[in-house]
Amino acid sequence: MNLPETLAVARPPLTGGGTTSLPQIRSLAGAMPGPRSTEWDDRRRRSVSAAVSTTLPVYAAAAGGGVLVDVDGNSFIDFASGIAVTSVGSSAPPVVDAVKAQLDQFTHTCFMVTPYGPYVEVAELLNRITPGDFDKRTALFNSGAEAVENAVKIARRYTGRPAVVAFDHAYHGRTNLTMALTARNQPYKSGFGPFAPEVYRAPMSYPFRDGGRSGQAAAAQVIAGIESQVGAENLAAIILEPIQGEGGFIVPADGFLRELASWARANGVVFIADEVQTGFARTGAMFASEHEQVEPDLIVTAKGIAAGLPLAAVTGRQEIMDAPQRGGLGGTYGGNPLACVAALASHRMIEEYGLVDRARRLGEVVFERLRALQSADPRVGDVRGRGAMIAMELVKAGTLEPDAALAEAVVDFAHRHGVILLRCGTLGNVVRLLPPLVIDESLLGEGLDVLADVFASGGAR
Ligand SMILES: *Cc1c(COP(=O)(O)O)cnc(C)c1O
Repeated sequence: MNLPETLAVARPPLTGGGTTSLPQIRSLAGAMPGPRSTEWDDRRRRSVSAAVSTTLPVYAAAAGGGVLVDVDGNSFIDFASGIAVTSVGSSAPPVVDAVKAQLDQFTHTCFMVTPYGPYVEVAELLNRITPGDFDKRTALFNSGAEAVENAVKIARRYTGRPAVVAFDHAYHGRTNLTMALTARNQPYKSGFGPFAPEVYRAPMSYPFRDGGRSGQAAAAQVIAGIESQVGAENLAAIILEPIQGEGGFIVPADGFLRELASWARANGVVFIADEVQTGFARTGAMFASEHEQVEPDLIVTAKGIAAGLPLAAVTGRQEIMDAPQRGGLGGTYGGNPLACVAALASHRMIEEYGLVDRARRLGEVVFERLRALQSADPRVGDVRGRGAMIAMELVKAGTLEPDAALAEAVVDFAHRHGVILLRCGTLGNVVRLLPPLVIDESLLGEGLDVLADVFASGGAR
């Protein structure tokens, strides 16, 4: 296969030896899960809450580039990136070097006690690379959910209004407020209420399931619903994922985001883009809002920000970000120095390895292969996404009826054949691909071959 110029290994290493020293291969050593993973899993059952579930019960020993190796020596092709986190690869040498150097200096001071440079540098970076050529400020947190909560706090303080509009199929996290914002009941919300009040749900533009309604028409319906049921004067914020993640990689129709953002602007409502899953080159742009020429007032980031170290951020217009009282935002660990230097190194990799373009290139390869599957098999109802964030929605042949059992069978088959693959979708019938952006193209192709085999072999029938 032709290797594109942007392929990581074709570039000089930044500081270490390329993106990984692990052999970039798929190889299964024997039974799966193997004996060591099985042993860990027995201990886990006796020690870890059963409520914390896992996709496949193999225990990680090492990961890098496009592979994950388990404790039994099985080497998997990684189509998950730890849920869109390790876009630059796990333990990429530049990130490892930066974190090691910081470890030798200090591990924690708490930015609210004695601040440090890397936090400021991450804020400067985010202010520069997020969409919108206006004065911005940033605050750092630990997780996507925590950052989403803070974005809502900031929007409420700035507007003096209580209400928030979120969307069907939305996923914003698992804390109390973000559960309220999240759409799907099982497994995220059931039995965990009561939830935070003043959250209103609006219909999402979902071209595969709404008859291909235009973005303008879908936005008009949302706006009419807000005006009749909430009132702009009560609405602090509209929050949405420019491409929905857990909800099923739903790409709204062109114009949907723009219309909502411009209505929000005209009505003093803060427009919040939750780019926790879509951010940092994943979709073939630094941020997915760029595909729609939308400049969110606030943008929430996490997952792909720091190559796996826990970090999250809210970035946005200076006057909004500065609205809360002094000391109104913060947290003990928010903007931990190890995570901050990892974010800086990770972003250097994105730029120096051309990973925005690489995401687009990977997307072309994936799209072509999944489209071929779709034309050969009527159970592949839809193929959608952008860049290296692509999914197929599976249905009963020729209908819109979701087929979650098929999606589960596809994912199981992939796992048994050495490919880590995830499901998503409110209806559980979407198979999604989130490969590391540094994956070898040949390895990507091999993983896609496995996916094709599921359908061809009847392994999923
Ligand atoms: C994962 C995710 C979150 C929550 O992030 P955590 O770090 O798990 O709290 C919020 N929004 C979106 C879009 C996500 O994908």
